[in-house]
Amino acid sequence: MIPALTIENLSKEYTGGFRALKGISLEVQQGDFFALLGPNGAGKSTTIGIICSLVSKTSGRVAVYGTDIDVDFAGAKKNIGIVPQEFNFNMFEKALDIVVNQAGYYGIPPLLAHKRAEKYLRKLGLWDKRNVSGRMLSGGMKRRLMIARALVHEPRLLILDEPTAGVDIEMRRSMWDFLKELNEDGTTIILTTHYLEEAEALCRNIAIITNGEIVEHSSVRDLLRRLHREVFIFDCVDPL
Ligand code: ADP
Ligand code: MG
Repeated sequence: MIPALTIENLSKEYTGGFRALKGISLEVQQGDFFALLGPNGAGKSTTIGIICSLVSKTSGRVAVYGTDIDVDFAGAKKNIGIVPQEFNFNMFEKALDIVVNQAGYYGIPPLLAHKRAEKYLRKLGLWDKRNVSGRMLSGGMKRRLMIARALVHEPRLLILDEPTAGVDIEMRRSMWDFLKELNEDGTTIILTTHYLEEAEALCRNIAIITNGEIVEHSSVRDLLRRLHREVFIFDCVDPL
């Protein structure tokens, strides 16, 4: 099966010479729930920015469902939904319009766009806020609005950049449930996070990135097993 996402030897040097990505490679299989875990400044948002062509890459290759983004970005884009780390919608637009307009960018006819927007705003508990402008929504609601917007063209791969940062525990759990269900229904999901427990609660596979390098790429289960063993050995060698 073709991977949902292939990244080969991806490098990013920002203007000024800072190397944010130092030749990372990773593969995410179709149907996976994948975590890109790493501390602030590791290169997570840079990676996602490159996948959705908001950030130019220095070298390397990115393919989405086998389509190289350099060769056919429009083709690749159809399969991707992105929930960026920063709120990037028009704060003066109403929630419903934000989602419907996004559908328009994908060439979805108006009637279907409305139907889809209603479907996803309902799923995300925002239907009663449809006529509220973005700036009046809480942080958690804004995040959910961006998820609805990212799903309106029903992409096969949903990528979320730190979707639960700054979201309270209750809202975090309901977002987790929503994402789990979406994944069970067949959508491949990648999320970035700096919470290991979030990766543990949601994801099957994980890559850990620090200083622009992938230092781990395995199943979450194997990683936790290894971590526990290391903690155990550490405890034996150096009891406190
Ligand atoms: P993360 O999302 O993992 O927190 P980022 O990908 O946002 O990390 O950033 C990785 C590194 O690249 C950081 O050191 C950040 O300061 C740097 N960086 C990000 N954007 C730019 C930019 N536009 N110009 C220069 N450096 C940048
Ligand atoms: Mg980031």
